[in-house]
Amino acid sequence: MTVQPIRLFGDPVLRTPAVEVADFDKELHKLVKDLWDTMESQGGAGLAAPQLGVGLRVFTYHCDGASGHLVNPTWVATDEDTQLGEEGCLSIPGLYWDCVRAKNVVARGWNMHGEPVQLEGSDLLARCLQHETDHLDGVLFVDRLDADTRKAAMKEIRQAEWFDGGTPVIKQSPHPLFGGAV
Ligand SMILES: [Zn+2]
Repeated sequence: MTVQPIRLFGDPVLRTPAVEVADFDKELHKLVKDLWDTMESQGGAGLAAPQLGVGLRVFTYHCDGASGHLVNPTWVATDEDTQLGEEGCLSIPGLYWDCVRAKNVVARGWNMHGEPVQLEGSDLLARCLQHETDHLDGVLFVDRLDADTRKAAMKEIRQAEWFDGGTPVIKQSPHPLFGGAV
């Protein structure tokens, strides 16, 4: 096991856009393993490299019977359907709010060996793929909540026992709900 500590809301690394992976080398393989082991140890649906303090565009996922990892991922919505459902984040432990996401997406990227990967997802898996890609842009799901819910969420975060008083930042995702970058 190579379980690593997960960075929490307030850590600047979670607000820093990650860079594209250029070398599909042993270090990348180790990163994918660390992500996988840490995600599994927490029972998470997904985990992105910035959550381990690594600024590379990589995440792992394990939800709705699908599991794996994506390097340099992008996604697009395959129709205009949306879903409103409960969402959480290992970097915002113990707190959940309803968040609007595209319902059906296709994600593309590479595996750690540099081979192209394409993955279609609906419902929970689609939510996960969008959530993890957001992490690579320094975006957290609280950024996507409606104004009232976000205000309540920020209050709960500030009161959470794990929150150490970092400056809460709200960011705009470069990926709108529809037509994420190709
Ligand atoms: Zn998250």
